[in-house]
Formats: sequence, C-alpha cells, structure tokens
Amino acid sequence: MTNPWENYLNVVEEVSQKLDLSSDEKEELTEPDNILEFEVPLNDKKYKGYRVQFNNARGPYKGGLRFHPEVNLDEVKALSAWMALKTAVVDVPLGGAKGGIEVNPKELSEQELEELSRNFVKEVYEDIGPEKDVPAPDVGTNSKIMDWMVDEYESLVGEDAPATFTAKTLDNGGSEGRTEATGQGGAYILEALAEKKNLENATIAVQGFGNVGAEFALSASQFNKVVAVSDSQGAYYLKEGLDVSELKECKAKGNSVVECAQEKYDQGKEISNEELLELNVDVLVPAALENVITEDNADQIKAKVVIELANGPTTPEADEILEEKDITVVPDILANAGGVTVSYFEWLQNREGESWSKEKVLDRLERRLKPAFEEVWKRAEGGSLRKAAYEIAIIRIIKAMS
Ligand code: NAD
Repeated sequence: MTNPWENYLNVVEEVSQKLDLSSDEKEELTEPDNILEFEVPLNDKKYKGYRVQFNNARGPYKGGLRFHPEVNLDEVKALSAWMALKTAVVDVPLGGAKGGIEVNPKELSEQELEELSRNFVKEVYEDIGPEKDVPAPDVGTNSKIMDWMVDEYESLVGEDAPATFTAKTLDNGGSEGRTEATGQGGAYILEALAEKKNLENATIAVQGFGNVGAEFALSASQFNKVVAVSDSQGAYYLKEGLDVSELKECKAKGNSVVECAQEKYDQGKEISNEELLELNVDVLVPAALENVITEDNADQIKAKVVIELANGPTTPEADEILEEKDITVVPDILANAGGVTVSYFEWLQNREGESWSKEKVLDRLERRLKPAFEEVWKRAEGGSLRKAAYEIAIIRIIKAMS
C-alpha cells in the first residue's frame, strides 16, 4: 500500500536537493509544526481525532476535515503538507493543515453526526480560529457539518467568528461559487493548457462524477467533448460525446451515471472504471480517489494530458512512467487548488462582512489560477509540472519563513 507521507517525503527530498536547501529548511518541510491527536467522544464510544498544523509561514493554517474509517496520522500529515504547498502554489496567504476523525459517518444518524462534529470542536477550539487555523470540509464532511462546527466554536469562544471555517452553507456565511470552485478551477487549467498543447475540441474522460468531476465536466463540455464519465457503480462511454448537464441532473436524483446514460443513449456502452482510465482520449481527469494510476496501468494510459482533480491519484512509480511516455500531468496541488482559493475568498468576505457575486468569485478564481499555471509551466521547461509546482511552492514557503 502506498504511504502518502512517504511519497511526500520522497518528492521533497528530490526537490530539496535541486534547490540546495539547508538541513534546517528541509526540516521545516518534513516536520509538521503541531500534531494534535485526541479522542472524540460519542455515546459510550471514543473515536480517534487528528488535526495536523503543518506550516503557517504564509498565513493561518488551512485545510479540510476528513471523516473516514481509514483516517490515520500519516495520511493526515501528507494531506496537511499538500495543503501548505497548494496554498503556496496559487499564492494565497494561508498555510497548510488537515484533520479528521477515524469514523464511518455513513453509520451515524444525523443527530450523532452533529454531536460528533460538535465534540470535535470542543477538542480543538483553542487551537483554531480565523487568524490561527481555518478548517473546511473534505471526504465525508460537508457544508452542514461546517455550520454545526462554526456554531459550536462561536458558543465556546463567546463571539461571532464565521471565518473560522470555510465552505459553509450560503445562509451561514458560505461563498457563492464554492460548489463549482474545484471543478471550474480544473476547467480554467484545461483552457490554459489547451493553448500550449493545441487541444482544440479535446476528447475527455472523467473518473468520478461527484462534486468536482461533474462541475469540471459541465464547464469543460462547453468547448470540448466529454466522451466518458464514471462513478463508484461503473463507467459509460459515448464516442459522440455526452450531455453532461442532463447526466448531472439525472445523477442528482440518486441514479448512477450508467443508469442515466443508458436511459438516454442507445449507441454508447458501459465500460469499467479501469477501461475508462485507458481510453484513447486527449484528456484524462481522475476526480475520485487516490492511487488509481499505478505502475500496473500507467503504461496503458493513452491520454495526452492528465489533470489531477482528486488528491494523490497518481503513485510516484506511475508518475515516472507517464513522464517517460511524455504525458503531461497537471499535479493535484495546482489542478484542484480552485477549492482552497474560493475558501480563501470566503474567509476574506467573512472578515470584511462582504458577500461577492458568483461572477466576481469565479472571475477572481480564473485570474489566480491561470497565472499560477503559467508560472508552473514556465518553470517546468517541458519537464515535470509536479516538480515545478513543488519547487515554486517550497521556494515561497522558505522565503516566508526567513
Ligand atoms: P464526491 O464524493 O462528491 O465525489 C466522488 C465521486 O467519485 C462520486 O461520484 C463517487 O461515486 C465516485 N467514485 C468513488 N469511488 C469510485 C471509483 N472506484 N471509481 C470511479 N468513481 C468513484 O467527492 P468530491 O468532493 O468530488 O472529491 C473528489 C476528489 O477531489 C477527492 O479526491 C477529493 O479529495 C478531491 N478534492 C475535492 C475538493 C472539493 O472542493 N470538493 C477540493 C480538492 C480536492
């Protein structure tokens, strides 16, 4: 099993050598500032809870909370480090953190989920806050949980502090455009990349038709052809291109993408998630899980470009194979940074008491992501965009520390 923290350390080691970092600088990038480990009570049980504050040299710690049965310290550490790099690569003045609870939220009632979320805040409230550490949702958590958490935090500290959490519901200080942010950000990156790689009317396969994948597909389908999409139930391929908007509407009613597509089309076909990854398309977008492109299938990938909207979808071994095959990989810390960028906008709006329109949010998102992409592209000089993105981020963090 690939250990994400070890993967992170390996890339940092390589980049540190190239940048000739001192041992103190390297230590800052390989030792989280604070590791909070605690137990979160619910009924007569106790669940393992974590908050890892990786680095705040560039601004308050920032990063999601994951509720999942496989949450563990190495995963949280790696995700916290990636957050620090992500905020640095798009140059938003925030640091990196991550947290979570080792729990299966699907096994809890709504009331239990609320109690667990509030109990998590009771454990960490002295260590978080708008100027200290700003959590957000991740896998297994959502806007409603953020609303409960803000409410709990505000009652514990005795003051209004909506900027303590981001991706809240719109009624509770959330930002317009947050739902679209990560997928739309990926579409802006594709636009920028299309100019470099002559990807006119590209064919696209998207693994994971959830929040991120569906929003990306919807936006990208305006100028391109989305020929395959999937969810955990399976994948569907239609050479002529799918109507993403209709699929999204149908999926929102609780159907799988395959059911939706089969109802609408006769000429397409159901394929497996593995086959989707290996389709002969211009652009492949993993937007579901980590470690889906591995040394076992990397050789079979035929796309010209991979845009990583999921966190950590490519193992280091696969990354080398893709590089040898001259496949351009836009790394997760850049490709899916739209989410944290709009979280930053939410934090700004909350602090200033403002409420921006969706147009303003998305316009600012585009104006932040496209230049970030250009910078990474330029630094890579035709080589690995991942290493270039790490280098830019690490240089910014080291500079802020000094
Ligand atoms: P989501 O739960 O809304 O969607 C995930 C989708 O993946 C679902 O449609 C699910 O059915 C599908 N899926 C699950 N297992 C699959 C499998 N084996 N094969 C194909 N599809 C499968 O989650 P999301 O918010 O869209 O997040 C997706 C990824 O993007 C995650 O890796 C997440 O960490 C990353 N990400 C999300 C955000 C954000 O703003 N939501 C920001 C940055 C990164």
